Amino acid sequence: MSRTIIIGAGLAGMAAAVRLAEAGEEVTLLESTKAGGGRARSFVDGASGREYDNGQHLLMACYRETLAFLRAIGSHDGIYFQRNLKVDLVRPGGDRVALSCPPLPAPLHLATGLLTMRGVGVLHKAAALRAGLLLRGEVKRPDDNETCDAWLSRLGQTAGIRHVFWDPLIWGVLNDDPLVASAAMLMAVLERGFMSTRDASRLGVPRVPLSRLYVDQALSFLRQRGADIRLGAPARALETRDQAVTGVVLKSGETLAADRVISAVPPKAFLDLLPESWSGHPVYQDIGRLQTSPIVNFWVVLDRPLFTDTPFLGMVNGPIHWLFNRSLIDGETGGETLLNCTISAARSAVADSAESLVDLFHGEMRRYFPKQEYAIRHFRVIKEKRATISHAAGTYQWRPEIISPTRGLFMAGDWVRTGLPATIESAVQSGHEAAAAALEHGRA
Ligand SMILES: Cc1cc2nc3c(=O)[nH]c(=O)nc-3n(C[C@H](O)[C@H](O)[C@H](O)COP(=O)(O)OP(=O)(O)OC[C@H]3O[C@@H](n4cnc5c(N)ncnc54)[C@H](O)[C@@H]3O)c2cc1C
Repeated sequence: MSRTIIIGAGLAGMAAAVRLAEAGEEVTLLESTKAGGGRARSFVDGASGREYDNGQHLLMACYRETLAFLRAIGSHDGIYFQRNLKVDLVRPGGDRVALSCPPLPAPLHLATGLLTMRGVGVLHKAAALRAGLLLRGEVKRPDDNETCDAWLSRLGQTAGIRHVFWDPLIWGVLNDDPLVASAAMLMAVLERGFMSTRDASRLGVPRVPLSRLYVDQALSFLRQRGADIRLGAPARALETRDQAVTGVVLKSGETLAADRVISAVPPKAFLDLLPESWSGHPVYQDIGRLQTSPIVNFWVVLDRPLFTDTPFLGMVNGPIHWLFNRSLIDGETGGETLLNCTISAARSAVADSAESLVDLFHGEMRRYFPKQEYAIRHFRVIKEKRATISHAAGTYQWRPEIISPTRGLFMAGDWVRTGLPATIESAVQSGHEAAAAALEHGRA
C-alpha cells in the first residue's frame, strides 16, 4: 500500500479519494475550508434559516462518472431526473416556449422536440433541423478556435432559434457568451448529451442541498475506510526533491510525505503551490493564461409562486437566464415560494450592489410576468467570481493533462483536459482519471 495526498475536497478531490479508498489505498485529503464541497456546496443562511446551495446546479443523465460516484457513496437517489428532456422558457410579455422531446431514439427525439416546439415559427424550426442534419457529419466540425457564434452562423441558424435553443444551452453549459465561447466545447456537450442516447439528455436537479447530496456522504464513506481527512488544513506548497513531488507542506508548517500527490484545486490555487523555479515550465505557464467566468445567483423568498407548472424556466433573451422554483422541486406547495435566479457569465452583474440586483429582479419580473403581483420576503445574493474557467475559443490547449509533467504529481479539477466544459461531470471524471493514473503510477 502507498500513500496518496489529495489537495482539495471539491467534487474532483472527493471522487479521486473515493476511487483510491475503494482500491484499498492510503488516502490523505486536505481541504482549506472547514466544510469542503468547493464550488458545489450548501450552507445555512443566517437571516432566513434556510439551507442554500452556492448556486442551483443542473445535471444531465449523460453525467455517467458523476452517477457512478453518487452510487459509490450511496447518494444516487438524491437527484430528480426528468423522464424525457423538457425545457420551458418564457418570453418578455409572458408568452411561453416549450421544448418537449418524445421517447424516440437520439437524435430523433431532439429533432422531433424542435419541430414541435410551441411558440416558434416554421422558418426557425427548419434552421434547427438543418443544423441537426449538418451535425451528422456533412459540415466540417468546429475546432476550438471557432466561436459558437461563428459556427451557428455557418450552420445558418436564425436569431429566432438561437434565442430559444442555442443561446440558453450555451450560456448554461459553457458559462460564457456565445460570441466568445468555443464551438468545439459546445460540440462535446451535443455529442454526449443529445446525439448518443435519448436518455442522456434528460435533466436532473438535486433533491437535497448539495453538501448533503455528496459532501457528507463522501466524507463518511472515506472515514469508514480509514482515510485521513483534514478539513481547515490548507496546503501551502508542494514538497519536492530531484524534480519530483514527494509530499505537501501545510500552511501550519507541517510537512506530509507521500508517494504521489493529486492536485484537485482550481488553477490559481494550483500555481500558488508550485516551487518558484517551476513557473517557467510551458504547461504551468499555460495554466496561468486560463481566465475565469463568474455566476451570480439570487435566492428569493416570495409571498407566492410566480409559476407552478414547471420546476425551472428559462428567460428568453434577458439578463437573468434561469428561474428555479425550489419550493416545487422540494415538494412544498402553497404559501411562500423559494426561487433561485441564475445569471451565467455574469461579468457585469458580479460588480453590482445587492440593491441594484433587487431592482434588476423587479424590472425583469415586470417584463416577463407583467400580470403577476408578489412581495419579496427575503433576498440573498451569492456571487461566485471564479465559478468556472472561461471556455473562450482557443483556450482548450492551455488546460493541462491529468498526468502532469512532474513525477509524482497528478492533476484533477473541472478545468483539466477532460474533453468537457468545466462542469460537475468534468470534475468527477478528472478525479476518477487521476485516481486511475495514480494507481498505475504506484505499480510502476
Ligand atoms: C454557481 C455555480 C453554478 C454551477 N452550476 C453548475 C451546473 O448547473 N451544472 C454543472 O455541471 N456544473 C455547475 N457548476 C460547476 C461545478 O460546480 C464545478 O465544475 C465543480 O464543482 C468543480 O469541482 P472541482 O472539484 O473541480 O473544484 P472546486 O469545487 O473548486 O474544489 C476545489 C477545492 O479545493 C480547495 N482548495 C483550494 N486551495 C486549497 C489549498 N491550498 N489547500 C487545500 N484545499 C484547497 C477549495 O476550498 C475547494 O474545496 C456551477 C458552479 C458554480 C460556482
